[in-house]
Amino acid sequence: MELANRVKTLTPSSTLAITAKAKELKKQGHDVIALGAGEPDFNTPEFILNAAQNAMREGMTKYTPSGGIVELKQAIVSKFKADNHLDYSTDQIIVTTGAKHALYTLFQVLLNEGDEVIIPAPYWVSYPEQVKLAGGSPVFLTASEENGFKLTPAQLENAITDKTKAVIINSPSNPTGMMYTEEELKQIGEVCLRHDILIVSDEIYEKLIYSGDPHISIAQLSSDLQEQTVVINGVSKSHAMTGWRIGYAAGPIAIIKAMTSLASHSTSNPTSIAQYAALAAYQMDGEPVEGMKQVFAERLEKLYELLLEIPGVTCIKPKGAFYLFPNVEEASRNNGFASVDEWVSALLEEEKVALVPGSGFGSPNNVRLSYATSMEALIEAATRIKRFVLKHQ
Ligand code: PLP
Repeated sequence: MELANRVKTLTPSSTLAITAKAKELKKQGHDVIALGAGEPDFNTPEFILNAAQNAMREGMTKYTPSGGIVELKQAIVSKFKADNHLDYSTDQIIVTTGAKHALYTLFQVLLNEGDEVIIPAPYWVSYPEQVKLAGGSPVFLTASEENGFKLTPAQLENAITDKTKAVIINSPSNPTGMMYTEEELKQIGEVCLRHDILIVSDEIYEKLIYSGDPHISIAQLSSDLQEQTVVINGVSKSHAMTGWRIGYAAGPIAIIKAMTSLASHSTSNPTSIAQYAALAAYQMDGEPVEGMKQVFAERLEKLYELLLEIPGVTCIKPKGAFYLFPNVEEASRNNGFASVDEWVSALLEEEKVALVPGSGFGSPNNVRLSYATSMEALIEAATRIKRFVLKHQ
C-alpha cells in the first residue's frame, strides 16, 4: 500500500536514531555512555505521584473536556500571572498531550498550503517536520554562533514574504541552551507586529536557567505582543514528567478555540490522571525543581570546562536547558573525517560515546551533548572524547 505524500518527506528524529544505535551497542555488552537524552534523569517528585494515585482512586479516570480540566487551566493561568506577569483567561488556554502536541495542533489550525514559518537554526528537530505536516514551508534562518545562536531582527525582516505566517522563538533553546535578552525580544517583537506575523514562543525550558538571567516571555513585553503570540510550555522538563505527556498553549481565543476543536477529534483529551498530576505540580508552593536545577548547574560547569580542554573544540556557554552544543568542526577535520556526522559515528564505534550530530538541528559543525546524566558518566565521556581526538590527530 502506498503511503500518503505527507509522510514521504518526514525525517526521522536524529536524536532517536543515535539513541537506538547506542542501545544496540549496550545490548551487545559495550560500556556505552549515551549523551543523547532529551529528558531529565530524575524521577517525578513523590507528591506528584501521590496526586496521580489519589486521582485514580477517586475515579478521575474518565474523559475530560478536550482542552483540559478547568482546575488545571486555572492553575496554568495562575502560573502565567506569577511567573510571567501575563493575564490570561481560561478560554485562552488549552492543555495538550505534551508541548509537542500543542505545537503540532497549533500548526494544523494555523497553516494553509505553502504558508511559511520562519525557523531559526539551530532548531529543535520537530519544528520543521510539524510545519511540513501541516502543509507549511519551513524557512530556515541560520542564527550564527558569533551571535550566540540568536536570530537578529534584520535577518527576520529580510526573510519575511507575503506568505510568512509565523516565527518560532525557543528560549532557552534546545539544542544551544542560549537565551534572548529582553531587548532582543523587543526588537524581534517589533518586526513581527509590523508585518503581522504570529510568534510561537516555546518556553518549555523556562525553569532550567543557570546563568541568573530572568526568563522573559516575549508575550509579556506588551499587550500587543501578547495578542500576537502563542506561548507553549509544559511540565515535562520542569517537573521531570516527560512520560506523563502534559503541555499547554496560551494565546488568542480564536486560535485556542480552533486547537480545542481539533483536539476533540484527535486526542479527545490529555490523560485525565496526568492532568491531576500536573495540577499538583503547579499547586505546590515553592520550587520542587530547585534541587534538580542545582544538580544540572554543577554538571554544566564541569562538562563545559572539560570540553574546552579538547583540541579543536569550541563552545558558547549555555544559559539554560540541559544541553551543550560545541563546535567540533576543527577537531573532526584535524582528525581526518569528511564531516562531523562521520566523526560522531566513529566516536560511538571506537569510544562508545553517543552524541547527537548537529546536522539534525540544522547546524552541521556542532554536536549536542545532554547533561541529563550522572556527573561520573559526564566526566568519563569527556575523557573518552579527548582520547579519541588526540588519537586521531
Ligand atoms: N520543545 C522543545 C524545544 C523540546 O526540546 C521539547 C522536548 O524535547 C518539547 C518542546 C516537547 O516537550 P513535551 O515532552 O512536553 O512534548
